[in-house]
Amino acid sequence: MPLKITDRAAKIPHYPAAGGYSLPDGVALLASNECPDPPLPEVVAAAAAALGATNRYPDPSYRPLREALAEHTGVDPSLIAVGNGSCEVLLALGEALLDHDSELVYAWPAFSVYPHLEAASGATAVRVPLDGDHRHDLDALAAAITDRTRLVIVCNPNNPTSTAVGLDAIRAFLAKVPDDVVVLLDEAYIEFAEQYRPEDSVPLLQEHPHLMLLRTFSKLYGLAGLRVGYGLCSSPELVAAVERVRQPFVVNVAAAAAATEALRHPGAINARIAQARESRAAVALGLGALGITPAASEANFCWFDLPAGDGATDDERSALEHRVVADLREAGVLIRTGGALGRPGAVRVTYGTPQENERFLTELRAALA
Ligand SMILES: *Cc1c(COP(=O)(O)O)cnc(C)c1O
Repeated sequence: MPLKITDRAAKIPHYPAAGGYSLPDGVALLASNECPDPPLPEVVAAAAAALGATNRYPDPSYRPLREALAEHTGVDPSLIAVGNGSCEVLLALGEALLDHDSELVYAWPAFSVYPHLEAASGATAVRVPLDGDHRHDLDALAAAITDRTRLVIVCNPNNPTSTAVGLDAIRAFLAKVPDDVVVLLDEAYIEFAEQYRPEDSVPLLQEHPHLMLLRTFSKLYGLAGLRVGYGLCSSPELVAAVERVRQPFVVNVAAAAAATEALRHPGAINARIAQARESRAAVALGLGALGITPAASEANFCWFDLPAGDGATDDERSALEHRVVADLREAGVLIRTGGALGRPGAVRVTYGTPQENERFLTELRAALA
């Protein structure tokens, strides 16, 4: 007998995994926007120390982590929801807000997890195309809101296109969103952005009654494998909505201890941001030498169309993309196909160490020769 799962579950799209697992050492993993550096020794030590008491459940209030985040962001601990990665907070928000009568609005291409929200809830997704510079078209996003819209997502900087919009544009957008529509500003990469600093968007929480800034320890903080993220919320109702649909112990004790410790090392974190900026400049220069102009990156990765030639069809672009990604994989460099992320012929490449960036450029040159 075949297993009967619900129609709802059957519609949930498969997350496009990077395929960077069970590979030999020495492969440059540039497909998942992770931090190329291992966690700081103090962070590893904090996680290890927490393991000694894992016969106990976590304190479900996660007070030390939420207080450290409050100090880090200036947001009251009562307005912070922590989660098992920021995706878990995102999915909980969708579960709390969306059903088959509602609409969800987001730009496309954007984060590949967003389509999970409409599939899991039965809501209708309204996908708004990015503008010609691969940026969010906030006017079009605002115009797509109807009286059935419950949630609007803005990914800034946007994954997979690496571009960002400025605070003034976001402020003007928020002013157009009705009070009862929740806005999720997904800032997974905000520490790498040029438009504004992470602390600059916190005052936006005063400007819309139900805004959540979604942040993560998976990218800059280098803790993708431990799964910790959080939402900074403008209303206690938003925190309560997320908590309502989840199990009580969302973050494990080792992850909570590591994340709390990770906030205590701003010097090391700033050095990583500086390294990502240097990579951005070096990779853009190398791509330029190949006649490629990437989108204006404000993240730890870049996004560009491969040179398929004027008048190439989508099929030709797609074939080039798959061949180049396969050639690079063969040469030990993993990058992401853009087709799976919404744009045939494009690729997304995470910045690695300076040596990995060089390897990527060398192998791309060879693949295009
Ligand atoms: C990587 C990423 C996240 C973070 O996911 P975690 O669950 O925190 O690892 C969230 N949003 C976007 C747009 C991302 O690219």
